[in-house]
Amino acid sequence: MPASTPWSDLQAELEQREAAGLLRRRRLIDGRQQPVLHSDGAEVLSFCSNDYLGLASHPDLIAAMQQAAAEAGVGSGASHLITGHHRLHHELEEALAEFVGLPRALMFSTGYMANLGVVTALLGRGDAVFADRLNHASLNDAVVLSRAELNRYPHNDVAALEKLLENSTAKRKLVLADAVFSMDGDIAPVPQLLAACERHNAWLMLDDAHGFGVLGRHGRGVLEHFGVHSSRIIYMATLGKAAGVFGAFVAGDPQLIEYLLQKARTYIYTTAMPPALAGALKAALPIIGQESARREQLRTLIDALRGGLRLQRWRLDPSGTPIQPLIIGSNEEALQASEYLRDRGILVPAIRPPTVLQGTARLRISLSAAHQHEHIERLIDALHGAEKALS
Ligand SMILES: *Cc1c(COP(=O)(O)O)cnc(C)c1O
Repeated sequence: MPASTPWSDLQAELEQREAAGLLRRRRLIDGRQQPVLHSDGAEVLSFCSNDYLGLASHPDLIAAMQQAAAEAGVGSGASHLITGHHRLHHELEEALAEFVGLPRALMFSTGYMANLGVVTALLGRGDAVFADRLNHASLNDAVVLSRAELNRYPHNDVAALEKLLENSTAKRKLVLADAVFSMDGDIAPVPQLLAACERHNAWLMLDDAHGFGVLGRHGRGVLEHFGVHSSRIIYMATLGKAAGVFGAFVAGDPQLIEYLLQKARTYIYTTAMPPALAGALKAALPIIGQESARREQLRTLIDALRGGLRLQRWRLDPSGTPIQPLIIGSNEEALQASEYLRDRGILVPAIRPPTVLQGTARLRISLSAAHQHEHIERLIDALHGAEKALS
């Protein structure tokens, strides 16, 4: 027996995880974020990134960040409510609000923090949240931290949601949903969710992490996609995915936003993000809005993948977004499929429970406008080979 240390319990748990094949390790990435990555010293074709529009290495964004850093320095120095709120942040907030067509926006350092900040500022004991079962982990954590009651409804099941709302006597009610579900790629039925919220006087918070930049003719996200407008909506989107940089914002009614500015703890008790990031994001917005060719390229790649795959035992679930879920079922087989691809220089993550429901282990394929058709063809060939080899 090795001598016990203050951390022996943790070590035992890590060893159990390793034995169960659940120990995670990080790839070491070098160079720029792009479909062909330098990972652990080799070149690999990646279908893992959320850089849906290929902006993370865009020369205009790099130049904008360099220029903003030269002007504003690299650190914000303080939180927003002290002296960290730079003109570049302020201008970006105004541009974001205008971009998504809502009156006012407030920046947060990450989407995770935005979700925690909003839910804990608005709700407490005696209030209730109604959440889709497939919501992102950050939304679930936010509810726990808020101490509101958590009611989960089956994925996209508006009738079940209505029943829960009807039976609730909570003071404040908040319906909480991913706009695009992060492991499935499908889109929440926003008009129906909104109608249910109107009938039951609930707020509706949408997490558009995967829709912003991607959905809608101008990439304005899920609200543009459905053409919905309502002052009842709390809109949250992240800026580290399609927008290519980092950060997040919440947009909505001016009273809501002023309240969050006063009360959201993850806004108040943290250093403002570097203003140079805001400078890069300001350069991203016109590219997102005007270069619809990037969204058209994504669309043709999605169609090429969906049209080209001929699967026997596995299935590609319906999704019109860059997140394409290839359902394999068994945890072990999903892992083997991911390893088969990796051995051929292709990275696609295997996603297993508890991140997804039992029996729905999958390959989560993410496409980017920066992919080329030959990349999709390589992926299709390798998937056909994997399904055959593992049968
Ligand atoms: C990525 C993601 C977040 C977290 O955003 P970060 O800016 O990466 O912290 C929140 N919600 C959803 C649905 C996400 O996919």
